[in-house]
Amino acid sequence: MKSGKCPKCGSPNVYTKQYKQAEILGGLVGRTGEQDDYICTDCGYYESYIVDKEGLQRVREKWKRVG
Ligand SMILES: [Zn+2]
Repeated sequence: MKSGKCPKCGSPNVYTKQYKQAEILGGLVGRTGEQDDYICTDCGYYESYIVDKEGLQRVREKWKRVG
């Protein structure tokens, strides 16, 4: 998705916006959490990336690992 191509439908119509969000993941990432969002305007697929490295570390400590 970050390369500009939708992984679901293959469309190149992917748009992104980076912004700050106060309450990402129920406050887990913290007050200054930044987020990168990607949206495909053809199929509506949506991806979101947490930018805050400390927030990601807290996820490692508190969330259950899938793999
Ligand atoms: Zn798509």
